[in-house]
Amino acid sequence: MAIETVNPTNNKLVKSFEKMSNDRVNEIILASEKAYQDWRETTYKHRAKLLLNTANVLKNNRKKYAEIMTLEMGKPISQSIGEVEKCAWVCEYYAENAELMLSKEIVETDASESFVQFDPIGIVLAVMPWNFPMWQVFRFAAPALMAGNVGLLKHASNVPMSALAIEEIFLEAGLPEGAFKTLLIDSSQVESVIKNPLIKATTLTGSEPAGISVASASGKVLKKSVMELGGSDPFIVLNDANIDEAVLAGVFARTMNNGQSCIAAKRFILVDKIADEFEAKFIEKMNSLIVGDPMESRTELGPIAREDLLLELDFQVKTSEKQGAKILCGGKRLDRDGAFYPATVLSNVQKGMLAYSEELFGPVAIMIRAKDEEEAIQIANDTPFGLGASLWTSNTENAKRVAKEIDSGSLFINGFVKSDPRLPFGGTKSSGYGRELSHYGIKEFVNIKTVWIK
Ligand code: NAP
Repeated sequence: MAIETVNPTNNKLVKSFEKMSNDRVNEIILASEKAYQDWRETTYKHRAKLLLNTANVLKNNRKKYAEIMTLEMGKPISQSIGEVEKCAWVCEYYAENAELMLSKEIVETDASESFVQFDPIGIVLAVMPWNFPMWQVFRFAAPALMAGNVGLLKHASNVPMSALAIEEIFLEAGLPEGAFKTLLIDSSQVESVIKNPLIKATTLTGSEPAGISVASASGKVLKKSVMELGGSDPFIVLNDANIDEAVLAGVFARTMNNGQSCIAAKRFILVDKIADEFEAKFIEKMNSLIVGDPMESRTELGPIAREDLLLELDFQVKTSEKQGAKILCGGKRLDRDGAFYPATVLSNVQKGMLAYSEELFGPVAIMIRAKDEEEAIQIANDTPFGLGASLWTSNTENAKRVAKEIDSGSLFINGFVKSDPRLPFGGTKSSGYGRELSHYGIKEFVNIKTVWIK
């Protein structure tokens, strides 16, 4: 793919970037290693100060960085501003907590002294997606840097301006040159970067095929990887749920980020008794969303990030319709410039249809009916993915029991799935492996070292 910014609001090219040659990439890797040798020797206090500076740079320039994201991938500006603020939060969170999370653990053994320490490992390569151009990167970078590692970023080819902005933010905050670098490369160059002996681990957020490539390339050279992949999260509404609250949360969870979030509610699994009411209220709310220029603060639904992604989504909707699904609203690209797709609801979705088994990356909600709670859980688990899940009920004791039966990385009861620096984030099955955020995330890229002394 060409590395270029195309504004999805009008599909016009904004800027093209030249790909870096492999020689240039190797020079950057050498510079990163040099930076690592110094960075690993710095104290937590020093790193924390620079991460807090980073949070300030983000907060002081929230509008500037938000506008870059919205320009490149069409996220409503109010959500881009929220994303910049969340990046500041993750920097502050790890600045304040990393030292404690990675403090030495003393273990009583036959030694006169034995303990576990958490050493940095070196350069971590991050291959990142365009949907949260800053958040995805900061949630990897903040813990990696606090642990004493350095970061290299290969961002999605359609968000190069965001990628370069992130490098600029760290430099402005006072981090040394080389602690965090952006590689302007395409996916065909990734494997050779992974093979470079100075790269110690990889982390990828993106689709399943990309995950398979990067995980295999890492496996071939025995490097650790963390995979944050796609999802088709269930949003289960039981008979005793508060329907109005569930509808409000469900519409937001399906359409925020223009429907392009890995943890978006994608499959609405409705127990028969409340299904008609839920669907009717849901459609009303979907139809009332303000669609338009994502740079305008009132906009709730902007364009799909790229024209090819819109075409793919439209194909999934059309094919599911041919397979018997019913389009209750939307279902056809909007007649205006740019990659705009309307808020869409597909009902009567059943096993065997494309919409049942594939991830729909856009504002398309699918409705699946279940006769009771047991069948709802069975449908929720009937997916290759296992990222998040949301369950709506007034019986929280019963919901806690259900929590054990749902095969996913998280379950939110009476709330939509969201990421939070304090809670681990990741998936099961084809949604990947490993965890980001919380103390689990920072321990993914450290050498857990035993020290035994007699
Ligand atoms: P994508 O096409 O898989 O791209 C993600 C990144 O991987 C990009 O940097 C891409 O580079 C690179 N890439 C693609 N194929 C590759 C290959 N064969 N070898 C090496 N690198 C490769 O995904 P996307 O369209 O950007 O993002 C949407 C997907 O990400 C969805 O499936 C979504 O659910 C998932 N996602 C998951 C999470 C999570 O935390 N689990 C969070 C956000 C998004 P190019 O752009 O140059 O192709």
